[in-house]
Amino acid sequence: MIRPQFKPHATIRLNDSARRKHARPDIIPRSKHIVSRDEISQSALKVLYRLHKSGYQAFLVGGSVRDALLGLHPKDFDVATDASPDEVRALFSNCRLIGRRFRLAHVRFGKEIIEVATFRAETDGNEKRGDVEHDKQGRILRDNVYGTIDEDVWRRDFTCNALYYNIADFSIWDYVGGVKDVERRRLVLIGDPEQRLREDPVRMLRAARFAGKLDFTIDQSVEKAMAKNLQLLANVPAARLFDEFLKLFQAGFALRTFELLRHYGLFRMLFPETDESLDRDDQFGKFVREALTNTDKRIAEDQPVTPMFLLGVFLWAPVRRRAEKLMAQEKMSEPHALSLAAYEIAGLQQSRIAMPRRFTTPMREMLAMQPRFEVQRGKRAMRLLENRRFRAAYDFMMLRAACGDFDREAAEFWTRVQTENHNQRLQSFEVQQRKRTKNRRRPRRRRGRRATQQ
Ligand code: ATP
Ligand code: MG
Repeated sequence: MIRPQFKPHATIRLNDSARRKHARPDIIPRSKHIVSRDEISQSALKVLYRLHKSGYQAFLVGGSVRDALLGLHPKDFDVATDASPDEVRALFSNCRLIGRRFRLAHVRFGKEIIEVATFRAETDGNEKRGDVEHDKQGRILRDNVYGTIDEDVWRRDFTCNALYYNIADFSIWDYVGGVKDVERRRLVLIGDPEQRLREDPVRMLRAARFAGKLDFTIDQSVEKAMAKNLQLLANVPAARLFDEFLKLFQAGFALRTFELLRHYGLFRMLFPETDESLDRDDQFGKFVREALTNTDKRIAEDQPVTPMFLLGVFLWAPVRRRAEKLMAQEKMSEPHALSLAAYEIAGLQQSRIAMPRRFTTPMREMLAMQPRFEVQRGKRAMRLLENRRFRAAYDFMMLRAACGDFDREAAEFWTRVQTENHNQRLQSFEVQQRKRTKNRRRPRRRRGRRATQQ
């Protein structure tokens, strides 16, 4: 049965709570949609069924429903329920409660984590009520007032992310015209776009991320609101932006997402120095795009990626510029200048995106190693192959070579020597073997031994 739907909700104002209270979902029965349980992970099904059997409502919500409707294979599953976080914890021994801003339950099955969120109630965005708090710009600092599904839906960001798959009868509940927007491949914010972006400026990055991943168009109303509110990203804590950075660039759609972030002026808010270099230096732009293409390819092939590599790529031009200054002013060697410059630029960047030291340290090493690829003779050059950062630094150098930022023949040399055995390498690096050592020491020892034997 399809219940009558309340009229298009994208235009409903946030404070129009009376209309929202009477809003009823469009309920799409299993026979009328393509979301199949085969597309849902066993772990997510376990969580949904246990909640349901214990008398709670249990819905799959967010990206998994959206992606399944698009015929993609969802990998990440979010569950929404009327059980409180404590009630969820009581049901699952493998459950942990996390988060201060949003209290959530994480139910763990090996590597897979199913995120279970209790329905949130609507708040009006201005007052401090219960465990809800906003800052002066209206940004939500904490949001822990629980409610019902028909309150929860208005708290979601985009209409395509506000679809609920009910485990009770496998129907989809759509309050906001989300199915239609999925079909039209449109990203529309629920409610007043400006207010929704003020509440959480990260939604601008999410818009670019979903548009990149799903090949959706960002609705004009959202584009307009974004153009006015870009600066609000400056208020978002740097630690949260690091999490977002990973989602933006390690989800397999880094290049498309990057182009969108640049197009909307969002990239500047994340990497101001890099953005400036991109405007000035086309070769650097080529290098960055090459790296992003490469990252996407690695993810498509299930190869590991590390954020330190892309951080190094983004910071490369600013670091090099700073290193050139240091070399001219302080008469430093190039590797030393690069290392120091990487330290300084990463420090500046930290105020925007908090990068853990386990990423910044190897990044600095990788950048500082670049001049060493220019030397192909001698033992020290040969020892580079044994350096624990060799692989990353080599990949980085190859990307530079691919866009004319490093000599191609030299790059080929480093590719070739990796396949060589020790003796071949001695020749390639023109390392002289010290025959003298043998000749000098042995006779001396023999003479000594003979002397004691006598
Ligand atoms: P994906 O998993 O593909 O990245 P997703 O839509 O599932 O996409 P999540 O970050 O996993 O995104 O969030 C799950 C759901 O929670 C979203 O679909 C959305 O309904 C809601 N949500 C997440 N972050 C926000 C936010 N900042 N503002 C409003 N709703 C949000
Ligand atoms: Mg998700």
